[in-house]
Amino acid sequence: MKKTSAAKKPPAARKTPAAQKAPTAAKKAPAAGKTAAGEKPPVAKKSAAGKKTPAMKKTAVVKKAASVEKPARKAAPVKKIAVTPPSGESPTALVRRARRINRELAEVYPYAHPELDFENPFQLLVATVLSAQTTDLRVNQTTPALFAKHPTPEDLAAANPEEVEEILRPCGFFRAKTKSVIGLSKALVENFGGEVPGTLEELVTLPGVGRKTAFVVLGNAFGRPGITVDTHFQRLVRRWQWTDETDPDKIEAAVGALFPKSDWTDLSHHVIWHGRRICHARKPACGACPIAPLCPAYGEGETDPEKAKKLLKYEKGGFPGQRLKPPQAYLDAGGRPAPPLGAA
Ligand code: SF4
Repeated sequence: MKKTSAAKKPPAARKTPAAQKAPTAAKKAPAAGKTAAGEKPPVAKKSAAGKKTPAMKKTAVVKKAASVEKPARKAAPVKKIAVTPPSGESPTALVRRARRINRELAEVYPYAHPELDFENPFQLLVATVLSAQTTDLRVNQTTPALFAKHPTPEDLAAANPEEVEEILRPCGFFRAKTKSVIGLSKALVENFGGEVPGTLEELVTLPGVGRKTAFVVLGNAFGRPGITVDTHFQRLVRRWQWTDETDPDKIEAAVGALFPKSDWTDLSHHVIWHGRRICHARKPACGACPIAPLCPAYGEGETDPEKAKKLLKYEKGGFPGQRLKPPQAYLDAGGRPAPPLGAA
């Protein structure tokens, strides 16, 4: 992680990372005054990006998963581990700070939902595999033609690979992805009676399906809690100093130790939505970030509010979302559906 200028950090952020008093500092953050440099700290919750929409219903969100993801050799469940803060913060302070960030994010994204269009577990599984190395938007623009022609695992298992390749061409890596989705469809037919299994252990036996894809399906099609560690999740939890692990399985375990299991799926949604809209990889929009007072990495991105606002994406920036058929709650919050392939 890049070093952050202390002068740019809001008071709460400055105190938080190493600090044993992090939760106390964080609570005071919104009311805190100027930084050492005289900059006003960002205001939590009330920014354009963080406007509350209390009527919105919370739903799940889907993350990208890798079609080329290697199946896990062993589908070991997440081990319960002790909370081990990477900085000098106490375990209790870290748990409190992490949970507070999640609560704030739940207010910022009350309409968070899976960003892949799907109508059943099979469609979600296939769409998640296709989402590797491309955007959910591109997958959503491609899958209507695929599922219209091959609606079931039986249909896709028996499909002509060349025809499927043509349909999947817009997703990139279309030959490998064709092989993956036909292969997993065959495995569904041969090993699971044409039904998507509802356990981690079974899902990771499917070709091209690893833990990440499995958790997306379990969390969003079966309602079973899981943490999905994608690229956004990895980046943000390191910025927040929730863990300094770099291995996805270890990140999953370290972050899982900070939250009750019942929070895991929604937590994944909140973190990934924030990574896609505000806390970008190269230029996080710190000046428009509703959780800036809680963030040890404040200042890593653009701190000028007006400039930061221009960096916001999807509904936070006034643009269409990724789904062609988003949930009603998203539309009610002012979100707009994505255009079909070729329309924009
Ligand atoms: S945009 Fe990211 S790095 Fe910047 S304050 Fe927000 S969470 Fe922290």
